This record gives sequence, C-alpha cells and structure tokens, in this order.
Amino acid sequence: MIIRDIKETLKNTIEMRDVLKALNINLPGHGNKIKCFAHEEKNPSMQIYQNRVYCFTCQFSEDLFGVTSKVLNLSFPDSIKWLASQFMPGLQFDGHIDYEAIAQIKLQRAASEGLQIWRNNTYHRLCELFRATQEAKRTLKPDTIGFFVACQLEGPLDYLTDILNFGNELDWSELRQQMEASWGYPGYPELKSAKGGSRHAG
Ligand SMILES: [Zn+2]
Repeated sequence: MIIRDIKETLKNTIEMRDVLKALNINLPGHGNKIKCFAHEEKNPSMQIYQNRVYCFTCQFSEDLFGVTSKVLNLSFPDSIKWLASQFMPGLQFDGHIDYEAIAQIKLQRAASEGLQIWRNNTYHRLCELFRATQEAKRTLKPDTIGFFVACQLEGPLDYLTDILNFGNELDWSELRQQMEASWGYPGYPELKSAKGGSRHAG
C-alpha cells in the first residue's frame, strides 16, 4: 500500500476526535472546544470539527495529519505513518517508525511545556514584587527599612525579569535550578495577588 492510499484510507475512516484521543489530548465532556496546543492559553479556543481543528485565537488550522505532525513534531509523511500505526494495525510499511524517537519527542515536549509554565508564573510573580518595590519607594520615607529593602531588591528583580523576558529555554532552565538551590523556590511563599481571584485573603 502506497502512502497516498494510506492517507486516503485514514481520511475516510477516522475523525479529528479519534486523532486527538490517540494523541492523549483531553477532550471536553460536552462542547467542541479544547485548549489550543499551538499557543499557550487558559481558556479553550480551539474548535474541533470533523476533520479539522481551528484556533480562534492564533488561527492555527490543520487536518488530521497536520495536527499529528504538530503535536508529535513529526514530518508530514511520518505523521501519516504514525496514524496508520494507530488506526490501521497490521499494515506493512516500506519504511518504519522509530517509536523510541517519538517517545523522546513527547518527553521533551512535556518538559518544555513545564518550563514555559514555570517561566510564566515566575515572571508574573517577580513583576508583582518589582511593582511592590516601586510602590514602596514612592510611598515610604527614605529613612525607613521598607524603603531600604525596596532599593536592595530592585536591581536583582530587574535582572531576573530580564532573563525571563529575553532569555531562551536554556537560560530559564539554569535560572530555575539556581532559584531552587538558593531560595528553595518554588517553595518560596506565594505572593498574594489581587488579580485572578483564585487566592483568598487570610
Ligand atoms: Zn491557538
């Protein structure tokens, strides 16, 4: 069976929801929206159609093969082969699929997503802290301990937020290790946030 026929067979026998399930993407109990896997978001804005997905936020739009290719980071032909391996058992290929490599890719993907989330949370918290130092400098008298502490923190916070803002994943990964080693972060106490409403006072 040549690859073009395999592709046609898959298109005629499976739907987008089958593919998403096979890719371990959580499907909604009701409705047809999931969190987009092409950009990071809190509220689902990716619509599932029979044979496509479309993200209303980032306009990502792909079919069964494009989605597989994106999520598993596979070439287009390999995404066809991978889907065939999931949905057409017993099919003989001329080529072969390196499952170990795919497992590695998934692992890297998960690690990279985790790092992104850490980066966003940490950046948010450090920015809150930085704003607090600016507030303290504006409102406190210069001879108070609060003013002094704010001045001491300002520089390091500026430096750390710069790394999170302009650095790459390698920089963030190193910073995370340093922060865990020196502050016990993320055991570092959570900042009270007025935004979001997810944290309670007291
Ligand atoms: Zn998106």
